[in-house]
Amino acid sequence: MHVILTGGAGYIGTHTAVVLAERGHEITVIDDFSNSSPVALQRTAEIIGREVRVIEADLADREAARAAFSGLDADAVIHFAGLKAVGESVAEPTRYYRVNIDSTINVLDQMRERGINRLVFSSSATVYGNPEKLPIDESHRVGVGVTNPYGWTKAMIEQIIRDAQKIHPELAAVLLRYFNPVGAHPSGLIGEDPSGIPNNLMPFVAQVAVGKREQLSVFGDSYPTVDGTGVRDYIHVMDLAAGHVAALENSKPGVAAYNLGSGTGSSVLEVVAAFEAASGRKIDYRIVPARAGDVAEMVADPHKANTELGWRTELTLADACRDSWNWQSANPNGYAEQGE
Ligand code: UDP
Repeated sequence: MHVILTGGAGYIGTHTAVVLAERGHEITVIDDFSNSSPVALQRTAEIIGREVRVIEADLADREAARAAFSGLDADAVIHFAGLKAVGESVAEPTRYYRVNIDSTINVLDQMRERGINRLVFSSSATVYGNPEKLPIDESHRVGVGVTNPYGWTKAMIEQIIRDAQKIHPELAAVLLRYFNPVGAHPSGLIGEDPSGIPNNLMPFVAQVAVGKREQLSVFGDSYPTVDGTGVRDYIHVMDLAAGHVAALENSKPGVAAYNLGSGTGSSVLEVVAAFEAASGRKIDYRIVPARAGDVAEMVADPHKANTELGWRTELTLADACRDSWNWQSANPNGYAEQGE
């Protein structure tokens, strides 16, 4: 298939591009590089062994989206493009709604206009809000108790895709609800490169390990969990990438939602210990008050993806820490030039 990857220069897009290429699919990336680097695509091309076609465009702009899609004879879109920082979404809600929702609407319109009938969307476990029961399966209610605009954009976009599919009945749409993506390609050429101070745990830990940051703040130690710190379902980005390809290849007309997670929870302190073991570095940390909006525990029930997509995670938290360390230690400044 010829697959368009919107936001394909980002963390999950680049890793998915590698797996798609390995499976023999043709890829075109559309990205505006507002939160990603062209270097990431050069590295991706290095791994794949050929150039990656890229179109620079802001998909939230209707005319730019039309121009980007024109002339692309594509079979499918994986829609990664979007803003993703929870804290920033609280500070700039209208920007988050505009960018994430407008870009999705424009992608849906272009797909319908051009008869592109397969869509995979980057959703998030955050659409489940505060879990009613654990592990969480796909029948869990969505949109209730979502605590930030970023999460709301994901829940709203799921609904927009469901409604759009009704008037585009050939459309096979898959909503992938990611749990916590971590790790990097084993080559160390591509990985997560957050701008500024990382919001997420693993990149922060990696930056402490490499000496870029002094100390990790552990957000709360009195949750009802194994050691009082928050528990999440960490999924290796290569497993996540394979999940996109499985979703694409198994998609059928209609809308289907799948959790992409491992089914195993790890606490913050367990992640710290695993990273110390993988890196051989001490991770200094201190306990600080819990972060607003955080839940105690989020763990996927990945059974539906396991059975319907024939996909399951193969890599462990230890593998993710090894690969994250490999990437971070080889690229202490991410894709930026040294000292930039
Ligand atoms: N966390 C932490 N310190 C940090 C970043 C995150 O203790 O600097 C904790 C956070 O409270 C949560 C877990 O690590 O329990 C995962 O957080 P992350 O932001 O990576 O993902 P999300 O909150 O979206 O699950």
